Amino acid sequence: MDARETALQQAYEHAVRWLASLSDRRVPADASVDDIVRALGATLPSGPSTPADVVDLLATACEPGLTAFPSGRFYGFVIGGTEPAALAADWLVSAWDQNCVLRAVSPAHTAVEDIAGMWLLDLLGLPEDSAVGFTTGATMANFTCLAAGRDTVLRRSGWNVARDGLAGGPPVRVVVGQDRHMAVDLALRYLGLGEPETVTSDDQGRIEAGALRRALTAGERRPTIVVLQAGDIHSGAFDPFVETIRAAREADAWVHVDGAFGLWAAASPAYAHLTAGCAGADSWATDAHKTLNVPYDCGLAVVRDPSAVRAAMGQRGDYLIQHEHGDPFDKVPELSRRGRAFTVWAALRSLGRSGVTDLVDRLCRHAASFAAGIAAIEEASVLNDVVFTQVCAGFGSDERTDEVLTRLLDDGTAWISGSTWQGRRVMRISVSNWSTTEDDVTRTLDAIRRACAGT
Ligand SMILES: *Cc1c(COP(=O)(O)O)cnc(C)c1O
Repeated sequence: MDARETALQQAYEHAVRWLASLSDRRVPADASVDDIVRALGATLPSGPSTPADVVDLLATACEPGLTAFPSGRFYGFVIGGTEPAALAADWLVSAWDQNCVLRAVSPAHTAVEDIAGMWLLDLLGLPEDSAVGFTTGATMANFTCLAAGRDTVLRRSGWNVARDGLAGGPPVRVVVGQDRHMAVDLALRYLGLGEPETVTSDDQGRIEAGALRRALTAGERRPTIVVLQAGDIHSGAFDPFVETIRAAREADAWVHVDGAFGLWAAASPAYAHLTAGCAGADSWATDAHKTLNVPYDCGLAVVRDPSAVRAAMGQRGDYLIQHEHGDPFDKVPELSRRGRAFTVWAALRSLGRSGVTDLVDRLCRHAASFAAGIAAIEEASVLNDVVFTQVCAGFGSDERTDEVLTRLLDDGTAWISGSTWQGRRVMRISVSNWSTTEDDVTRTLDAIRRACAGT
């Protein structure tokens, strides 16, 4: 074997060992940042090392400082694991090293992106001619979609933002629900749109359709964007799309949906009702690295009118446009980027339609088991209506909830983050990993009970 093959072999062995450790290792990292810096050594070596030695040092020194994010018992934030086919495909992506800017230059990636895009639109119940851009995550997918929206509503008012910029143009009004994800605010900041106008949400975080309608009909008509949400990070709740999209349409607004993890409800007949009406929007952002469980980093920016996203993100020269949906780089902010579509294709090809449905159903079933298990603990209560993959629980007082969370993390069986929701501290469980089993849920509930008992 040459030096490269030896390094790849070394990486393979470390990867397999890491994956095999997931079922039983503690979920939180054991080492601190300083520990890892010491183990790696902070001095830049004066000369070269063999690739295999470098890989071995990296894996050995970092291992104690790795958090078991891909564990079936990681329930913090909204974190997917890695479907085996997608993980293996991701290794090929690095080996192939395709630059996926232009259709014609990597025919393989283009073909895979086209097929994966078509499958995604089908599974998510979105209009089949929409453009599907492969971004780094949902933040950039929201940014991409909102850029298309901003440019479109300004164009309708006779303002060309691509040519003339924002200064001096008509102000764009952005209306969001009070409980939208902060990634939306970040995207609006990147776009020079400032802070949005908020509309009240109900106790599950769903935007109130009546309040949205009143906000949209008040004052004079302006270029307007409405941002809705499929899947609240605390409650998992979905905005009422039918009424809100109708109100937005009457105001001639661009309607965008942030469905980072929740849009996938559409892929399951048992949960698709949650997304009813959602396909009537103009754009949708979702992640592939959450519910679909492909490796980081992969989000999806879906825009109904491909020419709208091309106008915002594409190159202007008509001669560059070779396809009615444009080139891959016309649908995302970057030029050079890795072949993200390969991993999405691999996950979808491996799961098939029924596998995606089963995945969504399984995550929801585990969330329901968590809710039932927590409700049975005397001092605990489930605070949200568990409609999808998210569960929020309280343990009496805020102090007590934080105490239980601290003990749970010390125990190490699972990783669950705390949050503040509806004015109180909560234990926030997000079931997003394909590999979570009933046994993982049982072991985690046992750990929560231990944390409550203080033993
Ligand atoms: C995770 C999440 C985002 C941000 O996604 P990234 O992939 O982390 O950029 C946006 N919106 C919602 C609802 C999310 O759950």
